[in-house]
Amino acid sequence: MKYAKVIIDISHEKVDRPFCYRIPPSLEKEIKPGTCVEVPFGRGNNLRRAYVIEESDKPDFEEERIKEIQGLADGFFVETRLIRLAVWIKQQYGSTMIQALQTVLPVKKEVKIRQSRTITSLLPEEELKALLEECEKKHQRAKERLIRELMVQGQLPYSLTQGQLKISSQTLKSMEKAGVISIRQEIDYRNPLWGRAGREEKKPLSEAQQRIADEIYADYVEKKYKTYLIHGITGSGKTEVYLELIERVVKGGRAVIVLIPEIALTFQTMLRFQKRFGDRVSILNSTLSAGEKYDQCERAKKGEIDIIIGPRSALFTPFNDIGLIVIDEEHEASYKSENSPRYHAREVAQELARLHGASLVLGSATPSMESYYKAKQGEYKLFTLKERLAGGILPRVYIEDLREELRKGNRSMFSDRLRELIQDRLEKKEQIMLFLNRRGYSGFISCRSCGYVLKCPHCEVSLSRHANGMLTCHYCGYVTAETRICPSCGSPYLLGFKAGTEKIEELFKKEFGNVSVLRMDKDTTRKKDSYEAILSQFMEEKAQVLIGTQMIVKGHDFPKVTLVGILAADLSLGVNDYRAAERTFQLLTQAAGRAGRGSLPGEVVIQSYQPTHYSIRQAASQNYEGFYEEELLYRSMGGYPPTAHLLQIQILDREEEKGLLLGQRIKTFLTEQIQEKRLSCIGPANASIGRINDIYRFSLLLKHKHREVLIAVRDRIEDWLSTEETESIVQFDFNPMQAF
Ligand code: ADP
Ligand code: ZN
Ligand code: ZN
Repeated sequence: MKYAKVIIDISHEKVDRPFCYRIPPSLEKEIKPGTCVEVPFGRGNNLRRAYVIEESDKPDFEEERIKEIQGLADGFFVETRLIRLAVWIKQQYGSTMIQALQTVLPVKKEVKIRQSRTITSLLPEEELKALLEECEKKHQRAKERLIRELMVQGQLPYSLTQGQLKISSQTLKSMEKAGVISIRQEIDYRNPLWGRAGREEKKPLSEAQQRIADEIYADYVEKKYKTYLIHGITGSGKTEVYLELIERVVKGGRAVIVLIPEIALTFQTMLRFQKRFGDRVSILNSTLSAGEKYDQCERAKKGEIDIIIGPRSALFTPFNDIGLIVIDEEHEASYKSENSPRYHAREVAQELARLHGASLVLGSATPSMESYYKAKQGEYKLFTLKERLAGGILPRVYIEDLREELRKGNRSMFSDRLRELIQDRLEKKEQIMLFLNRRGYSGFISCRSCGYVLKCPHCEVSLSRHANGMLTCHYCGYVTAETRICPSCGSPYLLGFKAGTEKIEELFKKEFGNVSVLRMDKDTTRKKDSYEAILSQFMEEKAQVLIGTQMIVKGHDFPKVTLVGILAADLSLGVNDYRAAERTFQLLTQAAGRAGRGSLPGEVVIQSYQPTHYSIRQAASQNYEGFYEEELLYRSMGGYPPTAHLLQIQILDREEEKGLLLGQRIKTFLTEQIQEKRLSCIGPANASIGRINDIYRFSLLLKHKHREVLIAVRDRIEDWLSTEETESIVQFDFNPMQAF
């Protein structure tokens, strides 16, 4: 006998309650995860629609009480593919089936904001009359009703056509396509401009752009659905290529998903898509409520939109038929989920594209090592765009050695060259961006007498001082009042270090007088729209200087910026992470690319303590290929991606000894495999943050050339763990992006 776990009614609340049913022998072949079936449910045994999520050989509870699946449900169900995707995610990343389902299925929220849409007639009265007669002849009743109504009113609320007039959304869609009506979204998603964007003429593509679009589309037409990587500096016209491809795919009636990192989803970007595709495009971002997000999913399911733009979760928009997936800035770390299932959007997109028969287009100015490696191996098709299209020449770049500055007696944050250039721009009234590439660096307090650093009592991280005078822990939220004396030696000399960018603002003003400065970092962008607000203030030249973290290197173009200063380029090299050089190279390349975007030529100063490090050298000369070669050598020697795969086993326990012990036992359990399969195994060791919220953290790192080997090993560990008594939590992370 075979059994199936099913979920009844896919609404999120019930996803976590699978029910077990018997599979009748006649259906054994047809039933797979994702299959939509009909099952008797509840006391009355009413037939309900349900989705199979798992098959098994043994029942969940007493055989006698298990009911049987009645049959297959008729029709096509979007959910089928999403559930298959969830199964794949579970296998790849090692989460529970429920976690995987909750990731891929749209969250249904009771509170829904109704959108008011209006339908407007686009034809003059005579033409409407002619059309009406034609519809009468052809017995197109629905169209007839609509035209009659339009002749009276000119404009109708969408809800009326669905309710009273009973006109299907397909009919409306076809009339919209024929140019008879327009369907406008009245809801304002984030800005009053929305919906009034107007149409924009398409730019004729350059020869290089045209060639890329044509080649990808030619494969598409032949149903050769592949993965493509477009490597092109910012401003080289990648987005224009996406737009062209999207237009062709949408014309053919298939849907498109465009992933853009949340931080680059600026109003400018959204407007650009809106201008090209009107309200057939929808945007998912963090300013939308859960209800609004759910509505977007519903609209996609009904075919009311063809294009969705959003961060990684936009992949799970329930379109019936996807023809193209685009991932812009594909190297961004935010494409990897930090919670279980720890999936990478690029990998999931590839599986989704396979399920639908869709092309996958990746784009970046600084492709990830993984993608470029695959492109070089011939797994992806590689295209390169070399020139900036909107004008502007590449900036001149200087590398300044901070050790040399110190030797000269310059102890400030600014090298002589940077100071000179800042002075020059201030006089010329041109704009300056100063960039500090340090993540998670916030102010901390230490004792000047004994060096003691104030730490969170629950986590192994230092506390940081906030403007309200409280000390807080960013990991667990612990808050305490500021102390005046050192808890270790009693000295009154406690010193607060300001957060990196705040400190720089202070030093800048000390050195250059009272210039108007904007600052952008975690502290100044806590509020929802503050990120965009700071950028637009800078755009409007309300300030001459913008100081910030990596946030400022993305998004907007600032034509008046002619100087970019990178204050300490190697700060991001210091972290204990095999991706440090790659991140540094990406950040520096992007930061340097901010200068000289308008008609004025730009200059870039990179200050560094390791000016000869290849990531800095190659970023200064904007040499991606050179960087890639050097980095690949280092990765392959160390057995790191892209030449090998990593599986991090993360162990969490309230008791330090127990967590460590489990790590050691897992390693012992793996002894044979380590030898047999030539796995390399590092640890168990303390995680990079050894304790958070009083929970101790350990890591065991496995390396192997083939991902499948690591997946098989993970399955064995999971089986073994299910028979062991342990209270530790064990999590898996493939090719981790974030330090654990
Ligand atoms: P990327 O996505 O690589 O940063 P974009 O597609 O945004 O590049 O193009 C950069 C700028 O160049 C934009 O302002 C865009 O309007 C302009 N542009 C792109 N393609 C063309 C073209 N074929 N002709 C004229 N301008 C173009
Ligand atoms: Zn002290
Ligand atoms: Zn804490």
